[in-house]
Amino acid sequence: MKYVYLFGPNITEGSAKQSDILGGKGANLAEMSNLNIPVPPGFTVATSVCNLFLKKKKLDQAIITKIEKAQKIIENSINKKLGDTKNPLLLSVRSGAKISMPGMMETVLNIGLTSSTIPALIKQTKNEKFVYDSYRRLIMMYADVVMEKAEQKNDVHIREKLEKILENRKNRKKIKKDSDLNVDDLKAIITQFKKSIKRNLGEEFPDSSKQQLWGAIEAVFKSWNGKRAIQYRKIENIPNDWGTAVNIQAMVFGNLGKTSATGVAFTRNPSNGANELYGEWLENAQGEDVVAGIRTPHPINDNSKTTQTRRSGTLADIFPVAYKKLMQIKNKLERHYKDMQDIEFTIEENKLWMLQTRRGKRTGEAAIKIAIEMNQENLINQEKVIDRILPKNLDEIMHPKVDPDLEKVHTAIEAGLPASPGGACGRIVFSADDAEKWHKQNKKVILVRHETSPEDVQGMHVSEGIITAKGGMTSHAALVARGWGKSCIVGCSNLNIDLEKKVLVVNNKKYKQGTWFTINSTEGLIYDTKLKLVKSNFMDNEAFQKLMQISNKFKKLKVRTNADNPQDANLSKKLGAEGIGLCRTEHMFFDKERIRSVQKMILSNEKESRKKAIMELLPYQKNDFYKILKTMAPMPVTIRLLDPPLHEFLPSQKNTQLIDSLADSMGITSNTIINRIIDLFEINPMLGHRGCRLAISYPEITEMQAEAILTATARLIKEGEKPNPEIMIPLISNINEFNNQKLLIKKIATVIEKKLKLKINYKIGTMIELPRACLTADTIAESADFFSFGTNDLTQTTFGFSRDDIGSFIQDYFDNHILTEDPFKTLDKNGVGLLIKLAVEKGRGVDENLKIGICGEHGGDPKSIEFCNDIGLNYVSCSPYRIPIARLSAAKNCIKLNV
Ligand code: PEP
Ligand code: MG
Repeated sequence: MKYVYLFGPNITEGSAKQSDILGGKGANLAEMSNLNIPVPPGFTVATSVCNLFLKKKKLDQAIITKIEKAQKIIENSINKKLGDTKNPLLLSVRSGAKISMPGMMETVLNIGLTSSTIPALIKQTKNEKFVYDSYRRLIMMYADVVMEKAEQKNDVHIREKLEKILENRKNRKKIKKDSDLNVDDLKAIITQFKKSIKRNLGEEFPDSSKQQLWGAIEAVFKSWNGKRAIQYRKIENIPNDWGTAVNIQAMVFGNLGKTSATGVAFTRNPSNGANELYGEWLENAQGEDVVAGIRTPHPINDNSKTTQTRRSGTLADIFPVAYKKLMQIKNKLERHYKDMQDIEFTIEENKLWMLQTRRGKRTGEAAIKIAIEMNQENLINQEKVIDRILPKNLDEIMHPKVDPDLEKVHTAIEAGLPASPGGACGRIVFSADDAEKWHKQNKKVILVRHETSPEDVQGMHVSEGIITAKGGMTSHAALVARGWGKSCIVGCSNLNIDLEKKVLVVNNKKYKQGTWFTINSTEGLIYDTKLKLVKSNFMDNEAFQKLMQISNKFKKLKVRTNADNPQDANLSKKLGAEGIGLCRTEHMFFDKERIRSVQKMILSNEKESRKKAIMELLPYQKNDFYKILKTMAPMPVTIRLLDPPLHEFLPSQKNTQLIDSLADSMGITSNTIINRIIDLFEINPMLGHRGCRLAISYPEITEMQAEAILTATARLIKEGEKPNPEIMIPLISNINEFNNQKLLIKKIATVIEKKLKLKINYKIGTMIELPRACLTADTIAESADFFSFGTNDLTQTTFGFSRDDIGSFIQDYFDNHILTEDPFKTLDKNGVGLLIKLAVEKGRGVDENLKIGICGEHGGDPKSIEFCNDIGLNYVSCSPYRIPIARLSAAKNCIKLNV
């Protein structure tokens, strides 16, 4: 077995393909050497050695011999020797796992500096300051990584103690930059460092090059089992037996004076994706200085300038030759890796050396632009574009977001479920009425409620964002906000709202109405202050549009939308919807006028008055259906008949104003209304008199809706349009329920067709949202033209979790590892999914062409979409702002085997 791999001019043994063995860093150092890019020579000790070392607590002699042999080859290749008193070699030792593990990477630079090599290096470089500066860096890193952390003396905090010594000296000398310390300062600091190390760690700093090297190698291996690394692996699901490699490399020095420098750069702009080198550098410095923030780095070129650094000298100006070479290397790396790279380099006496290359992290906007442009540059094919862009990249560009730099310096006061992504900022108010009032005064508001109901919709609409103390991912607030693409966080169980005093209490802190809050609803974080938001203009983004075109080319699943009004229908068409998969008709009554009629309908206990209330809704319905069907024609529009859980529409008993006005318009007393509300109260409204059950008791509801849909359709047919309505019956558990409703609709259709003397094409299908409907899907398929899985209710009824109450306890389920994902967000394949599969099999067993879709919130969730694709559904339907994500996810799923 090979344990040690050389890299450098003419000696390289590994390649980028071997990141399992060499770790990401080692594999890429080898790859750069293979590409004839100048990399200081060195060798990588394989990840398998880490496992052996950790098992035996020591290195086998055979491996030690191999490392020593590799060291000799490096020494010979550059004519320097570790510990030599004439021509000493200095080494860097760095860890490097298969994938980058931020926070655990251990690095020790300048290994080999001792009392016997220091004079030689001073003689050679004629630069005493450089040598002592390098020595003090070695001591700091070594004491921290090797003497403290690897020995698990973690509470000593030696690095902070040594930094303090350095700071004290600078303060005493009234200097700001480390590089302004002179030789005497450095010598004095080093003496103090050594004393502090002896005192705090109980050992001398080693004065042997060999001891330093082995100490550093073993420390890197030990770091794999450090507390931070173990925690990180657990979170990221990284196997414990991967191990880390160790990279031992000849040092090159960016701190040799004015002709030396060091820097980090991205081969394209990681914020916006522009195809230009973007980075920072420092003259007379070692790599750690650029990232440590002690000195402000300079922009590498004009493209990298910021307001603060606009007057700083660029690398392009000050080191033009090295910069030109860097640009050539950038191009070579991109052509080779076919992706944006994050690189580190050092210039030693005007000669450029590359120290690292890896895939660069980037924002969503940059990810999309880079992938599309790399495709246009023939670097990657379209499949690769789809493979590379993540659904979260789209989320990032489609919504405004809280300025990430500001989030770093502020602490959230509460976290909840991220119900609808984005960012919002406004003054908190606690009622929908206040939200409307404040909005009229041009004030931006965030509506904070225990939970929301259709009565709050106007207030929700004018709010920048919505927070609820209760509720889960499919609660009313979540559904409505997601439909509008509005920021929303639900299930924030630490919020105590005092509606009377208009005060919010969070963890003992009081916030009055009007306090500025900012929410990051992509993560579910709430801040008690005003933070800047970054706007989104994704519709004008050419790369986004191109990405959507490519997605359509590959995807098989159709993507429809959940839309209840003509505006949303229009928006969804622009976002690429191929039909409406769910028009929730009760959502069409959110308007103040209309909701009164629905309430009157619910509150009537006589057929006559109910019919009167229902008939008030008919003109609205006709008009809306006409507009929606026209907008989408000839694409299908699935209209679900009324499905209002009563609790969502009943007025509160406390709302006397509303009750009085309802009583007035219904010609009954307010007391009668209150008694009716009490009568209609249901213990469990989600399992109560809703869906088709309501329409079975009150067939006039279905009759009115069928009339509205079919007359609107007939009107469009007469106008030469091709409307395509699909009437959907909700909450079926029994074929007889379906047939009962189907008969009513058919009767109305026959009357209209006769009256208007024309044939209307329409379908009658059903939602499958109860386990019994899944189990008897074959019987239902004999009568139904289509199925649409209502996975919100199906999840609710399969788990027995209330979709409105789960927010208050789901965190306990995560904390106790009972659930790893919210089943209302990502479909539970093993339980709910099994029922769906069964229903598909049974349904298609009866009618092999049965059209089947999904319209629960899972229709916009990438993992759930994958499941829908795999089991052969025809379409997914999701809220308008999830359409691009659904298109991309559906395409990803189709190409996943071919990239
Ligand atoms: C569902 O239950 O999945 C569904 C789409 O219907 P609603 O969310 O309106 O109950
Ligand atoms: Mg439902």
